[in-house]
Amino acid sequence: MNIKFNRRNFIKAIGLGTASLAIQKSKVVGEVAHNKKQPDILFQRKIPVRHEVDVFIAGGGPSGVAAALAARRQDANVFLVEGQSFFGGMGTAGLVPSFSKFSDGINFLAGGVGRQIYDRCRDTGVFGPDYNPDRKYRWDGNPIHAEGLKRVYDSLITECGADFTFQTRLVAVNVENGSVQYAFCHAKSGLFAVKAHIYVDCTGDGDLAAWAGASFQKGDEQGNVQAGTLCSIWSGVDWDKARKAGMYGKWPLGQSDKLKQAINDGIFTVKDPHLPGIWLNGRTQGGGNIGHAFGVDGTDERSITKALLQERKKLLEYQRYYKEYNPGFENIELAATGTLLGIRETRRIIGDYVLNLEDYTNCADFPDEIGRYNNEIDIHASSVDANEQQRMQKLFAKSSYKQGESYGIPYRALTPKGLENVLVAGRCISTDRYVHGSIRVMPGCMITGQAAGAAAALAAAKKTNTRAINVKDLQKNLKNLGAFLPNA
Ligand SMILES: Cc1cc2nc3c(=O)[nH]c(=O)nc-3n(C[C@H](O)[C@H](O)[C@H](O)COP(=O)(O)OP(=O)(O)OC[C@H]3O[C@@H](n4cnc5c(N)ncnc54)[C@H](O)[C@@H]3O)c2cc1C
Repeated sequence: MNIKFNRRNFIKAIGLGTASLAIQKSKVVGEVAHNKKQPDILFQRKIPVRHEVDVFIAGGGPSGVAAALAARRQDANVFLVEGQSFFGGMGTAGLVPSFSKFSDGINFLAGGVGRQIYDRCRDTGVFGPDYNPDRKYRWDGNPIHAEGLKRVYDSLITECGADFTFQTRLVAVNVENGSVQYAFCHAKSGLFAVKAHIYVDCTGDGDLAAWAGASFQKGDEQGNVQAGTLCSIWSGVDWDKARKAGMYGKWPLGQSDKLKQAINDGIFTVKDPHLPGIWLNGRTQGGGNIGHAFGVDGTDERSITKALLQERKKLLEYQRYYKEYNPGFENIELAATGTLLGIRETRRIIGDYVLNLEDYTNCADFPDEIGRYNNEIDIHASSVDANEQQRMQKLFAKSSYKQGESYGIPYRALTPKGLENVLVAGRCISTDRYVHGSIRVMPGCMITGQAAGAAAALAAAKKTNTRAINVKDLQKNLKNLGAFLPNA
């Protein structure tokens, strides 16, 4: 594939020097502070090894579900643990209200299990009453009805025969010579261990890989991360009225002037100029991606707790804003907020290759490609600072690919350096901050999840480690699953 747009112009346009192209060495935000008055203690006890499987998967978000489906399609036996009471991660527990691009406008990039998920969502009404199969890019930007999405994932996973338990958390791993020996989990029945041939980290935060000793980066050079959002469900929306008033059907939802007015009128305690908005996901229901939680470390429960308290309060300000400034929203009620705080950015595990901005701008191809993706670089600013806000908006707008364009994702971005039997998938794969801003969205996570599941199954079948598998065999298996791999 050729270079699709002029890299130098692009870099200039988004206000980056060429020096910024080097992989950033972010300052790693410290792990949770210790109680310095007490020494660390040794915790030792006998626990049962309750599962021995080919593939252990931590986390059942879009990447974990895709990994399980792909591994099962190759007959691997799988055990998956999910901390919440359902699959879907940010799309269900986090109430993220819409899917980003599944396609490049021509090709279905999330081919294979992504397609299976998409089709099941379409057929069961998950995309809401406004789904239009005739619109040009019907594969992209569809809203999510979270309850429906839970059932889609439930059915796909149970049909594929993967073993799993909800309300079960990975809490630790032990490692010898770069190989994880056991994953330790906690659930209602207590602590137990899982022995697997390959361990796949789909936690979004890279918990498993980081706890196994993998290096990682987090945020920008100063350790600032993208703002999070406590997503929400709103009832009582008059969508016809909203549509007539031009409040729906445009992106960014035609609210910026009203938002500016409300900020000037003193409605908000935080003057946040970026409001993604409310998506139509039911006849009178909307899914809100509203408000930003700045300065949250999604790997520190204290930081998350503080943000949840703050954001639940702040949503009442947005309720007032919608009711008073936005036709069609006068009678809305806040029906629910996410069980999980929406976290956009935490660890990026360092793998054998770090997929980077240069690859993005060059629409790179790789010999070990496991998929291709194309979403814009969507980095939500880490503060309300006007310069940063504008820089990130510009980055988003200028990074948009043309129809048919995409960048390759090498298998090496899924293999954490120094670990023999661990793969990462989803939000925490090995990228720089820019590519993270693109690939972090759900269809992107399905692509890397599918590849990790297929690679894990192959390694288990060949009784080898993640680096010793034949990548050509992996690509063949991925193609059989339906992956979009034009270069393999
Ligand atoms: C506010 C917001 C808006 C977004 N908007 C969009 C959008 O418009 N379109 C789009 O496509 N994407 C969007 N995204 C991005 C997308 O939702 C996530 O990046 C994506 O879901 C990540 O997938 P994942 O599988 O890597 O992780 P997650 O979706 O985070 O799933 C991880 C799963 O692992 C579980 N887990 C974590 N740790 C453990 C553990 N130790 N033990 C057991 N289970 C564990 C969690 O409970 C969770 O279910 C948005 C994200 C946010 C936060």
